[in-house]
Amino acid sequence: MSSRIALVHPSFDVPFLFLAAEKNDVELVLILPQDQVVPAGLPAIVGKEILPIYADPDDSLDKIVDLTERWGLDGIMAVKEQAVVWTANACIRTGLRGISPQSAIAARDKYQMRKLFCQAGLPVPYYHVVHELGDVDILPDLKYPCVVKPVSGYNSEGVQLASNEEQLLSSVRKVLELNDNIYKAQSWHPEGHFHGVIIEEFIEGPEYVVEMFAWEGEVVALNCGYKGQPRGPYFEESVYLCPADTGVALTDAIQKTAIRGMQALGLNNGPGHCELRLSPDGTPYILEIAARIGGSGCAHFNVEASSGIDFAGLWFKWLNGSLNRNLWPPKSLSSTEAASSWIMPLGGEGELIALEGIEQASEHPDCKHILIFAEPGKVYRPYPHFDGFLAIIFGKHENHQSGKAFLNFLDNTISAVWLKN
Ligand code: ADP
Ligand code: CA
Repeated sequence: MSSRIALVHPSFDVPFLFLAAEKNDVELVLILPQDQVVPAGLPAIVGKEILPIYADPDDSLDKIVDLTERWGLDGIMAVKEQAVVWTANACIRTGLRGISPQSAIAARDKYQMRKLFCQAGLPVPYYHVVHELGDVDILPDLKYPCVVKPVSGYNSEGVQLASNEEQLLSSVRKVLELNDNIYKAQSWHPEGHFHGVIIEEFIEGPEYVVEMFAWEGEVVALNCGYKGQPRGPYFEESVYLCPADTGVALTDAIQKTAIRGMQALGLNNGPGHCELRLSPDGTPYILEIAARIGGSGCAHFNVEASSGIDFAGLWFKWLNGSLNRNLWPPKSLSSTEAASSWIMPLGGEGELIALEGIEQASEHPDCKHILIFAEPGKVYRPYPHFDGFLAIIFGKHENHQSGKAFLNFLDNTISAVWLKN
C-alpha cells in the first residue's frame, strides 16, 4: 500500500532518495523553504509546499499541522543537515514518528555532541568552544595542531587545521564570519540559534564512516567505509569506499563506537551517519554523527550497492509504520561487494572553464552514476569556503581492491580546467 511522506528541503541534485521512494511505493510531498522549480524526471513527487522553515520556523511549525492533514501525511523526514531540528519539532507537533528535538539538537551542535560522548565514556578529542576572538587567549592546555570549525557546520565548510597561534586566530576569525553569514540563520532551535567555534584536538589517523539505522533503541551498523586520511589545512570531502579493508576486529571496534555514539545522543530511531578517525594507537574517535542519511542521500547508494540493504527503505518503513520484526535486523547480502563515491577535488580555483575526462569515466564498467554540479563560468573559491561540489561519481565493485583501483582511475582521468589569470 502506498504511503505519503513529506521530504523537508530536499536536494534535487541527488536522485537516490527519490528512486528509493518510488521503489517503496512512497509518494513524496516536498517542503521547500522558498519557491523553486522542481526538476522534471525525479520520480515519486506528488506535490510541493513552501514553508519558510529557516526564516520563520515557528509559523512553519503551525502550518505543518494543517498540511499534514490536507496531504494525509504518514511521515516527515529531512536529509539536509540544517533542516533536521525543525523536522524533529514538526514530528512532535503533528504526532508523527520522528526523533526527539533534543537528540536532533545534539546531532546538530558539535559542542553538545562532544559533551554527550564524553559523558558516555567514549574517546573524545580535547575540545573548547569560543564565541569571540578574545576568548581564544584564555584557553588552557591548547596544543597544536588543532582543528577549528563551526559548531553547526556542514560540508566541511570552515573546517581548518591550525598549527600555531597566528593560524588559530585567523581560523577562528573565518569561522566567526561564516557563523554570521550562514550558520546562525540556518541553525534554528526552539531556544535560539547555534553559533560558536569549536577548537579541538587533531586526530590524524585514517577516517572511516558508518551508516546506521536505529529502531526502538536498537542500533544496527549497515556498513563501514574508508574516507581517506585528510591532512588539512582544509578538509575537502573526497572518497568513500565500503567495505573498508580494516579487518574484522577494527571494523567491529569502529562500528561499536559509532553505535555507542548514536545511543549517547539518544538517536533511538531512524538513520545515523557517523564519521570517525583513528588516533595513533588505533582507537576510533567520533568526529560527528548526523541524524540523517549522509550526503543528501548519497550514502543510500553506498549501503545498497555494497550490501543490498535498502537504507532509505528502512526509514520510509519506520516512518509509515510498516517496519516489522521480519525485516529486522537488516541483513547484508554480500560481505565482499564494494561501493564507492568519489567527490571530485577542486584542484584549482577561480572561474571554471570545463571538466575533462567525464565521458571516459562513464565507460568504465564499475561506474554506476555520475552527478555533475559544476557550472562553467562560475567562480569557485578554495576551502575553507564551499561554493559547491564539481562532480560525484558512484561505483559498484566486485571487492574493496577493485573499488580502490576505480578511485585511482578517476583521480587520473578527471580534471577541472580553470581560467588562468
Ligand atoms: P562537517 O559537519 O562540516 O562535515 P566535520 O566535523 O565532519 O564537519 O569535519 C569535516 C572533516 O574535517 C572531517 O571529515 C575530517 O576529515 C576533518 N576533521 C574534523 N574534525 C577533525 C578532528 N578533530 N581531527 C581530525 N580531522 C578532523
Ligand atoms: Ca562531516
